[in-house]
Amino acid sequence: MRGRTLAAHDMRYAALADAYERLEATTKRLEMTDVLVALLRVVPREQIDRVVYLTQGRVFPDYAGIELGLAEKLAIRGIALATGRPDAEITSLWKASGDLGAVAEAELAKRTQTTLSSEPLTVARVYENLKEIATAAGTGSQERKLRLFADLLNDASPREARYIARTVVGKMRLGVADMTIVDALAATFATKEERDRVERAYNVSSDLGEVAKALAAEGLAGLAGIRLRLGRPLRSMLAERLETLEEILERLGTAALEYKYDGLRVQAHVGRDGIELFSRQLERITGQFPEIVDALRTAVPGREAILEGEAVPVDANTGEFLPFQEVSRRRGRKTDVERMAREFPVSLFAFDCLLLDGEDLTTRPYADRRKTLEGLVRETDGVRLATVRTTADPREAEAFFDKALQAGCEGLMAKSLTSTYEAGARGFQWIKFKREYSAALSDTIDLVAVGAFAGRGKRAGTYGALLMAAYDARADVFRTTCKLGTGFSDEVLFGLPERFKDLLVPHAHARVDATLTPDVWFEPRLVLEVRGAEITVSPVHTCARDAVRPGAGLAVRFPRFTGRWRDDKRAEDATTQDELLAMYRGQQKAVRGEPGSAARPEGRSQDR
Ligand code: ATP
Repeated sequence: MRGRTLAAHDMRYAALADAYERLEATTKRLEMTDVLVALLRVVPREQIDRVVYLTQGRVFPDYAGIELGLAEKLAIRGIALATGRPDAEITSLWKASGDLGAVAEAELAKRTQTTLSSEPLTVARVYENLKEIATAAGTGSQERKLRLFADLLNDASPREARYIARTVVGKMRLGVADMTIVDALAATFATKEERDRVERAYNVSSDLGEVAKALAAEGLAGLAGIRLRLGRPLRSMLAERLETLEEILERLGTAALEYKYDGLRVQAHVGRDGIELFSRQLERITGQFPEIVDALRTAVPGREAILEGEAVPVDANTGEFLPFQEVSRRRGRKTDVERMAREFPVSLFAFDCLLLDGEDLTTRPYADRRKTLEGLVRETDGVRLATVRTTADPREAEAFFDKALQAGCEGLMAKSLTSTYEAGARGFQWIKFKREYSAALSDTIDLVAVGAFAGRGKRAGTYGALLMAAYDARADVFRTTCKLGTGFSDEVLFGLPERFKDLLVPHAHARVDATLTPDVWFEPRLVLEVRGAEITVSPVHTCARDAVRPGAGLAVRFPRFTGRWRDDKRAEDATTQDELLAMYRGQQKAVRGEPGSAARPEGRSQDR
């Protein structure tokens, strides 16, 4: 690059730094748009995609998964190298201000002479260097990155250094939202009325650089070439919310009601040569979910498709969903991911098909897409279809909602049968329905084991889960509130049949009230300390039945054995259903901010 003469289309980086400074000086979206329009107007056509990426603080579109993020330590060395200051001094300045850009700028301003070979920085050179910094890999790559960065600083003005340093560490943070860039692109290359078309191109491609390039080359006509493509995620369609099923059905007429799974939204790009998974934020998450990739290979063989679904961890022992936290920890080393994928495997509940063998299905009605999805996916444990019911009847919808809660889902997603897939848009074509029938559970509770389910797989030969109950002191009966399958060490787990052998009874004990049927029943005697995430309403459990909602009891969600057997307690000393009810109500009040909300109701047996 060095010694090159400046070609006519080589824009100076100073023009960008100038615009960035003005962007930083305002928080008003309209002013930002104006600054961007002024910039875009003077950018040479062949550089516009780079300018857009640089303005976003990156060198590639988000979904490419190539981050700049140079380690701060290395960036500090780069600044030290370019300014001749000791590393320690730059480090302490950085610790004081927290902004490497400001440090680079201040230190460069103190420089008495610029390097002899100094020449003005161009967008092309800055972009190429940054790109290499982002992609360099293998032996010697750290040194190379360091040199590339120091090289740029050598030729940078203090103000340019501010933005280069911030970009290099992945902290550009100009506060320019993607939609502001969309506004600016529309204002530069089209009319206000045509903004939606620009936004649609962005929603379909998730790539503002590509949109800018197409617009700069051919104006609006250029956008026709931007289509859904395998390997490049589209922005997710979003839902509105309504408070009752009646309102929802009034709006949609006959609608498809789907279970609303509580997990992570996944956009799966299934190609013949490979599979990529993207999150709702369009990050590449393929490496985090090897089991979904494997399952998709079997479920969608020999086809090319973009599917959308919700990934949820399922407990192999209880068949129930597990809290998503078990999965969200899955970042980091490959071996950890593989271990966690074995321990807490997730299933993908597919709910949409957006592309099939090169054909864009987003413009087809929901009903067609669902049919295509059903014809395409061969269901396995790892990939299933979202449970759906089509109805216009509020009573049927209500019953289906109960089933969804019973299955451990958080509610329903109602979808218009005729709706197309509107990438990136939130509207009433999809309406979510959740009812806050849950309350956080901050303390441990003590529950009585009244039965057990046989273990499968790794737990064959012992119990997979215990059926747990709270005590109803008035009726002197134990009523169920959860299945407990988590929190047992292997030793305790395999000792369970021995521990319970003297308590086995051939059918439900007379003092046990349950609708579930475990494989074995126990005399209610042993008390276990349990930590749960929240109390929710569930039609399968009998604890405090009908108290909150007709036909439903209280369930402890995501219960986990703390490891403590409460041998010091009789079964009658366990947490009572009234206590659970008080906790539920207290928390509900606390959530609503009502006065007198008792977060810790009096007389709870487990308060210690
Ligand atoms: P939003 O996604 O609407 O911004 P949010 O992140 O708070 O809001 P929720 O209110 O829980 O999420 O609801 C929307 C999410 O529900 C979707 O983004 C998706 O991840 C999830 N989901 C679960 N089941 C379905 C389904 N059957 N169809 C569509 N989305 C579903």
